[in-house]
Amino acid sequence: MEMTEVVAALIWDRDRFLICQRPAHKARGLLWEFVGGKVEQGETKEEALRRECREELDIELSVRDVFMDVVHEYPDLTVHLTLFNASVASGEPKLLEHNALAWITPDEIPGYAFCPADEEILKRIIERSRPVAALLYDFDKTLCTKDMQEYTFIPNVGMTAEAFWAESNALAQGSKMDGVLAYMYVMLERAHAAKKSIRREAFVEMGRDLEFFPGVEDWFDRIDRFGASLGLNVEHYIISSGLREIIEGSSIFGAFREVFACEYLYDENDVACWPKNAVNYTTKTQFLFRINKGVLDLSDDKTLNAYTPEDDRPVPFRNMIYIGDGLTDVPCMKLVKVNGGCSIAVYPEGRQDKVRDLLRHDRVNFIEPADYRAGSALEKTVQDILRRVAAQNALTERTKRQLQE
Ligand SMILES: [Mg+2]
Repeated sequence: MEMTEVVAALIWDRDRFLICQRPAHKARGLLWEFVGGKVEQGETKEEALRRECREELDIELSVRDVFMDVVHEYPDLTVHLTLFNASVASGEPKLLEHNALAWITPDEIPGYAFCPADEEILKRIIERSRPVAALLYDFDKTLCTKDMQEYTFIPNVGMTAEAFWAESNALAQGSKMDGVLAYMYVMLERAHAAKKSIRREAFVEMGRDLEFFPGVEDWFDRIDRFGASLGLNVEHYIISSGLREIIEGSSIFGAFREVFACEYLYDENDVACWPKNAVNYTTKTQFLFRINKGVLDLSDDKTLNAYTPEDDRPVPFRNMIYIGDGLTDVPCMKLVKVNGGCSIAVYPEGRQDKVRDLLRHDRVNFIEPADYRAGSALEKTVQDILRRVAAQNALTERTKRQLQE
């Protein structure tokens, strides 16, 4: 069936957006919709949208990025709708086509009857308007039980874990080299010597063998549901000095909005040839700012370092929870904590001694066993923090509203 290209505008004025009521005598009469229409031949989508807004509202539109696109199938045609974020560049919207106009906030959506095709879009607008709580995890010994190279890679090259890390540390110290770059180098050298593949897929394959602490595999869904019950949108991120490729092959990879970790660059034969990203102790902290500002593309330093007003940052530090196990996590733990978020150090059952000092020296808020099962102390602590995040955000919103009145 032929695909009809349709565009629509999500026209924002601060936290409100414009909706239009269809005239009573037309199809889907008196239902609410977004302004827009068909893309005509020879027009770009943006041009079509600006034309429609002139024709229907008598305004000049400034079109921004795509908010989302949906395909909707009617009995007689298939419509591909692209919805753009936009704002009024000039003019005051007039009722040239519509019965009524309204500027509403996302929580006022349930009070209006919309065209059925807009359902998915409205759901997304509500979701996006919720405050984001971000859980940031270290990986090795935080989610999985030992360093990720120790499950498959190190035995495959015929070494013990002790020997592998000793060689890597000796290289780092002897050459005054970054420890993370040193282990990435030793991995390639040792794989060559043992004639093992260093193709990307070989590393990804190793992700299957990881063992996680109890409850990890269904933790993310559980926390998401709990967050949603508080009106929060929960996002999970990894900040790890391990290999992204191995994490990619693990059963929990899909739970993360983004995984920041070390990674190789691969040549045209898909063979590792250079370290693409190396994530050590203090470089870990840059990812907190990336998440805070919503700049997840590692090659984009410009936006990351540009001035962003506190209010425009998608994930405030006070909405962050950092979970890690050891010294490499300290810079992140401390940074999250001093900025109003919470940090948790986890330890294997019975080994509280490993993290006691982090609590005593004020580097973390809590220490908990690495037990992610429903009803565990860790789950309760995270739930309490999420309750605080929800309350704090609601209060901040109240202040904002009072300032606008
Ligand atoms: Mg760790």
